[in-house]
Amino acid sequence: MQTKMLINGELVAGDGEALSILNPATGAEITQVAEASAAQVEAAVRTSQEAFDTFSLTTPAERSAMLLQIADVIEAHSQELAELESLDVGKPWPSAHDDEMPLTIDVFRFFAGAARTMMGSAAGEYVAGHTSMIRRDPIGPVAAIAPWNYPLMMASWKLAAPIAAGCSVVLKPSEITPLSTLRLAELLQDVLPKGVLNVIQGRGPSIGDQLINSPQMEGISVTGSPATGMAAMRAASQQIRHVHLELGGKAPVIVFDDADIDAVAETIRYGSYFNAGQDCAQPCRVIVAEGIHDKLVAAIADQVAQIQIGAPKAEGTEMGPLVSAAHRDHIAGFVDRARGSCEIVQGGKTGDGDGFFYQPTVIANVDNDAEVACNEVFGPVVTVSRFKDADDALKIANTGPYGLASSVWTRDVGRAMQMTSRMRYGFTWVNTHGVATPEMPWAAMKGSGTGSDMSVYALDAYTAIRHVMVAH
Ligand code: NAD
Repeated sequence: MQTKMLINGELVAGDGEALSILNPATGAEITQVAEASAAQVEAAVRTSQEAFDTFSLTTPAERSAMLLQIADVIEAHSQELAELESLDVGKPWPSAHDDEMPLTIDVFRFFAGAARTMMGSAAGEYVAGHTSMIRRDPIGPVAAIAPWNYPLMMASWKLAAPIAAGCSVVLKPSEITPLSTLRLAELLQDVLPKGVLNVIQGRGPSIGDQLINSPQMEGISVTGSPATGMAAMRAASQQIRHVHLELGGKAPVIVFDDADIDAVAETIRYGSYFNAGQDCAQPCRVIVAEGIHDKLVAAIADQVAQIQIGAPKAEGTEMGPLVSAAHRDHIAGFVDRARGSCEIVQGGKTGDGDGFFYQPTVIANVDNDAEVACNEVFGPVVTVSRFKDADDALKIANTGPYGLASSVWTRDVGRAMQMTSRMRYGFTWVNTHGVATPEMPWAAMKGSGTGSDMSVYALDAYTAIRHVMVAH
C-alpha cells in the first residue's frame, strides 16, 4: 500500500509521527501513515513556489493535455482507487466505484476544456494613445486542504481548477483518509512536472496550519468544516492571501402540499443516507407544509426502513459505517439530545459490530429552532418539521449560518421560481436534490463558504485580473 508523500517529484516517507489509519467497517488498523515533519512541509512549499515559475508559463493547451492525462490515469486505475476509498471511508462498493469515480474523472476532463476557453474582457484604447488589455493570470502556489468524506473527489476539485489556471498545488488530504490521495500522487508522479503537485500528510492544527500560514502560498483553498474555514481566513489575513472556502451545509428540503410525496421519500432514501449522510449537500432538513407532515413522515419512514446497512463489500449494502468512532458518537449525541422534544420514527441507535455504524435515522415533529434541525449533523439523520406558508418556509430556510445546498418540491412552476429566487443558498434544486455536473458551480453563500468548486467560476479563485497598458 502506498503511504508515502509526494514532494518535489519524489515519493518520501513522512519524518513525523506515524498515524493509524482505521477501517471504519471493523475498527481495525489498515496501515500507518507518517506525518510530514515541519522541514518536509517547508520543502513542499518551496518546491511548489519554484515549480510555479515555469508551470505558470505553460500554454493552456499543454495544461489541458496534462489534465486529460490525469483523467485517463484515474480511469485506468479506478477499480484500485475505489477499493482504497471504500476501505478507508467505509463506502459501499457501488458508491465508491459507480457513483463517485465518474464525476471525479469528469472534473479533470471538464477543466481540460475550461483551461483553453477562459473568458476575458475587452481590450482597447480607453485613454488616447494607449492600448489597454485585461489579463487573467494564475495567482501563484495554492495550499489545498481536503476533507475525509469524499477524499478522492474532493482532491479532484482541489486540483483540477488550479492546474487549469496554471497554479502549482500543495495538497493535504484529511489525516484520517489519505490512502486514495497518496496513491493518486504516485500515479501522477510522471504526469505533472516536478513540484507542480506536492501531497503532504498530517493533522490539521499542526501540518495544515503550517501549510496555510506559509508565506510562499498565494492561495488557500479549503473544503472542510467552518472552523477550518475560519482558520484559513485568519491565516490569509496575516499575509493578505486569496481564500476559497467550501464549508459545511444544512440543506433544507422544502416540500409543498402539491409535491410528489413518493419522489421526495425516495430522494431522501437515496440522497440523505448516501455516504452515510456525510455529505455537505445532504438533504437533511425536511420542512413540509403542515397538512402533509404525517403523510410525508410515513412515506420517508417506509423508505428508510428498507435501507440495508452493512460492510462495504457485502451484497446489497446501501449504507456503510461512519468514518470514525468519534464522529459516530458526535452524531449519537445530536439524536440523544433531541429525544425529549421530537419523535424518533426510525433508527436512533448505533449499529451492531465493531465498526462505526449508526442506524439511518428519521426524526419527526421537530421544532424549527431545535439544535438537530439547525446545526450540521453530517451523518445519517433527517429531521422533518412544519411550515405554514411559502413566506414561513423561506424564513425558516434562510435563517441560520449555512448557505450551500437546498431544494424545493412543488408542481407549481411559478411558485418554484419565486422560491428559488429568494433562497439564500449557493444552489437550489427543484423536484430533485443532489444531482451534480462539472459544468455547474458547487457554489457557497453565507457561512458555507466563498466562491465555487466546479464550473468555469472555480477558475476565479485561482486567477487574478490584471491590467496591462501600452503607450503607443
Ligand atoms: P475538517 O475541517 O475537520 O477537516 C478538513 C481538512 O482540514 C482536513 O484535511 C483537516 O486536517 C484540515 N484542518 C483541520 N484544521 C485545520 C487547521 N487549523 N488548519 C489547516 N487545516 C486544518 O472537516 P472534515 O471533518 O474533514 O469534513 C467535514 C466538513 O467538510 C463538513 O462540515 C462538511 O460539510 C464539509 N464539506 C464541505 C464540502 C463543500 O463542498 N462545501 C464538501 C465536503 C465536505
